[in-house]
Amino acid sequence: MFKMQLYWQIIIGLVLGLAFGIASAIIGWGGFTTAWVAPFGTIFISLLKLIAVPLVLTSLITGVASLSDLRKLSRIGGKTITIYVITTAIAVTIGLVIVNILQPGNNVPDDMQIKLQETYQADASSRAGSAQEVKERGPLQPIVDMVPSNFFQSASSNRNMLQVVFIALLVGIGLIQIPKKKAKPVLDVFEGLNDVIIKLVDIIMLMAPIGVFALIAQTINTVAGEDPGQVAELLGALGYYMIAVIIGLGIHMAVTYTAILRSYSKMPLKTFYTGIGPAQLLAFSTSSSGATLPVTMERCEDELGVSEEVSSFVLPLGATINMDGTALYQAVAAVFISQALGLDLDVGDQLTIVLTAVLASIGTAAVPGAGIIMLVIILEAIGVPSTGIALILGVDRILDMLRTVVNVTGDATIAVTIAASEGQLGPPKPKAD
Ligand code: ASP
Repeated sequence: MFKMQLYWQIIIGLVLGLAFGIASAIIGWGGFTTAWVAPFGTIFISLLKLIAVPLVLTSLITGVASLSDLRKLSRIGGKTITIYVITTAIAVTIGLVIVNILQPGNNVPDDMQIKLQETYQADASSRAGSAQEVKERGPLQPIVDMVPSNFFQSASSNRNMLQVVFIALLVGIGLIQIPKKKAKPVLDVFEGLNDVIIKLVDIIMLMAPIGVFALIAQTINTVAGEDPGQVAELLGALGYYMIAVIIGLGIHMAVTYTAILRSYSKMPLKTFYTGIGPAQLLAFSTSSSGATLPVTMERCEDELGVSEEVSSFVLPLGATINMDGTALYQAVAAVFISQALGLDLDVGDQLTIVLTAVLASIGTAAVPGAGIIMLVIILEAIGVPSTGIALILGVDRILDMLRTVVNVTGDATIAVTIAASEGQLGPPKPKAD
């Protein structure tokens, strides 16, 4: 009962935030919004991020330690990664088909192109610089990056989530291998901590409506700046491109995820979407699958009946490496930029996009705006000037919100699927409140 209400409270917060953001852009309340409204959004997002690392650590350690054999762990791991990669490749393909049919890049007037390039040049170059650093690393670097040399350093940044996953797996495996009597007190501590953290998610979510209100209001405030007229102009010029991304994301969610859910679990779509709804709303408001992770895990376990063992492994991994929405967007954006710059892409280039977009999305951090940085790598692979991202920067935040929703939905879909295939999809947990 309480949870359902919360869902609507968040929606109301979102709608009011939207209205407030637009009103403040029109009236010129930008300064007021930044000073008095935005901090509540920042506090909310910080609280969510604050519990992300401890949650992954405690739930994964207890999850692995409760598995009595390692074969099971490698079976679930192999299955999860395979499905993650396949669904991402499907997402990229959908994006490519849509963008080739709609050809949105051929609809941007020349003068608008020049204006966009000029406006976003500086920003585009700084992002291209960040991408360059990523590119200069060797092919095995992502694997090297996964293995930390210092625990506290890994735990000190939410960007290092994969390292935390790695540490938790190791500790969990270690716990299985020592005598039960010695493992028990350690495990009890982690289990207790895990329960406390899950309770904290509930408490933090009480602030969700206000947090979401503030986040959305401030996002609109930043996008609109002091000149709401410019937003209308941007939307006009880049409308087709945005529509192509949105249609692609819609198809992937409505067709791919529905097909997967239908084929592997008996879960009705309504149950799935009501259960995961608050996580989707948060993904939309925060543009970060990392910040949404605690809620995604809680909803999957409590509302969808995914066992803790599966959710604590599949979801943190998914938030870090499985980004279908990002990959789809990167494919559409890459082709859009080439079309707008009048560069032809042959079949080989399109295949390169499939490969690089799957890899780039794996390497994309689960934070706002990370997708556009990795896009530079794809552009370079197909010989398109990376400063072309200046064309799409103006509307990136809006698309970031949408692709993050798909990223989170994808993780939840696979968590349900893996749980069903392992016989670990139970009924939802009864509510204490
Ligand atoms: N914001 C996205 C996420 O956290 C990543 C991206 O920029 O595409 O899932």
